[in-house]
Amino acid sequence: MFAAGIDIGGTYTKVAIISKKGKIAARSLFETKKFGRFDLWVDKSLSVIKALMELRNIKRNEFAGIGVGAPGHIDSVNGVILALVNIKGWNDVNLLDEFRMRINVPVFVDNDANMMALGEYAYGAARGTRNAVCITLGTGVGSGLILEGKLYRGSFMAGGEMGHMPINVNGPACACGGKACVEAYVGNKYIVRRLIRLFGRHPGSVLEKKFKGRFGEITPKDIAMAANKKDKLALKIWEDTGKYLGVCLAGVVNLLDPEIIVIGGGVAKAGKLVFNPVKKTVRQRVMQVYRHRVKIVPALLGNDGGIMGCAWQVFEKGRA
Ligand SMILES: [Zn+2]
Repeated sequence: MFAAGIDIGGTYTKVAIISKKGKIAARSLFETKKFGRFDLWVDKSLSVIKALMELRNIKRNEFAGIGVGAPGHIDSVNGVILALVNIKGWNDVNLLDEFRMRINVPVFVDNDANMMALGEYAYGAARGTRNAVCITLGTGVGSGLILEGKLYRGSFMAGGEMGHMPINVNGPACACGGKACVEAYVGNKYIVRRLIRLFGRHPGSVLEKKFKGRFGEITPKDIAMAANKKDKLALKIWEDTGKYLGVCLAGVVNLLDPEIIVIGGGVAKAGKLVFNPVKKTVRQRVMQVYRHRVKIVPALLGNDGGIMGCAWQVFEKGRA
């Protein structure tokens, strides 16, 4: 059997046809904003799915359904997008109805970070566990919780938002309306902002020289490159980033007692630079009993975690 996984991004929508075993049979993408009206977007998604199925010669009776992951607040029971982060005009859109008007297969709509967590749980780094915390580090900090073998959504479908756990009494304002959320320390732009603020206190940083007059162009990747060349300020930024995340995770471990914490996303590509201080901080700060138990590992599926989770949801819930 096969299912379609669709990941709506602010820039691109990714579409893939995935087998029950978790193999991507075919994939494609299109610019989300070119089909910015949701009805046009649904038409386009379905035509891409049809083309991909024809390409791989997959028959209609081998097709189990469609899973959609979207960046925002999603009512997954009714398939309604309540609000999206990066796409305007999609508030209170019943995506499930839009698909149902056009095709008669099971369709599931859910939050993209939740789908990434399901993907890692079903096919990736958290496979075989019962309790997992999955995090994506990028512009924002997305996360999903698998508890007792099930995705945890919370009472109002907004649960599992580890990125918006405050880690201090006072601190930087966060896009969510809160203050001192972990995202406001380890999200892309906040990492860069902390670096720029420290230039004065760390004269001679290679990044200050390299990006003179255009600090706005610095990315976490540049900071990782500088750190790999032993730039002291860049090393400090990663050490601090890992520490902030580690403090938050220590609380999460004490609260949930997960077997595994999976970390993915662009910022996680800094590798040891971020994983080492995260692991060290968690070890130092969790309750003694957990100290050597919880595993902290990189995501296995990279950018495909979301679409894989979408497909798995179809196989699992659609009983295919
Ligand atoms: Zn926040």
